[in-house]
Amino acid sequence: MDIRKQTRSARTTIRERKGWQKKVEPVYVQMLEYYKRVCELSRSSSEADRQEAERLKRNPPEDLKEKVRRLGEERRKSGVAIIPVATTILGSSDPDVALHDVRYMQHWLAWNKYGKTLEQLVEEDRAAIAKSSSQLLSVQRDFQDWRYGKLRPEELKTKFDREHWTLIAMGLNFGIDKLSQEDLADFADEMCGCGNKTHSPENLRKLRYRILEALQRRPS
Ligand SMILES: [Zn+2]
Repeated sequence: MDIRKQTRSARTTIRERKGWQKKVEPVYVQMLEYYKRVCELSRSSSEADRQEAERLKRNPPEDLKEKVRRLGEERRKSGVAIIPVATTILGSSDPDVALHDVRYMQHWLAWNKYGKTLEQLVEEDRAAIAKSSSQLLSVQRDFQDWRYGKLRPEELKTKFDREHWTLIAMGLNFGIDKLSQEDLADFADEMCGCGNKTHSPENLRKLRYRILEALQRRPS
């Protein structure tokens, strides 16, 4: 019996109930719908489409920004703990900014190359962990290459695929932390910008674990 087929049919049943929709914040779903459109356009063979993708990326709609802002405000008032995901991992609250800004680039490289925060690498280097020291050196070398136009971060081979870690990490405050692995995969099948319609529940769960683990290690 084909196990994959079995899993798929089990998941189809779950999908009909759409377990994730009850748990994921609708504003996040709207953000992802927007982002998915950007991804589709940036994969297009037409130059005009790719330019439109860049434009959309830099100019998110005002009403959506307002909704996100209001949600953040409500949460702060209600006293719900907010995980500072992007600021911990990238030093910036905006992953796209982090990718292009000199202040955040070393964070971005540390995370994407080794799945570690820059602070963690620096700490481990201080503690004389040889492997971390060479990782830190490599981050610094890539940083300088990027600075002088010799490295395009978009082309760098990354530790986690960027699409999926963004999807999960950015969603941790929006209910992604509460999904079962099956729901997580169903959610990704529908909302992920990568274009793949069958995500592995196991891989996504592991990725979420790695991200949460890195977040917990943040210096207090
Ligand atoms: Zn995906």
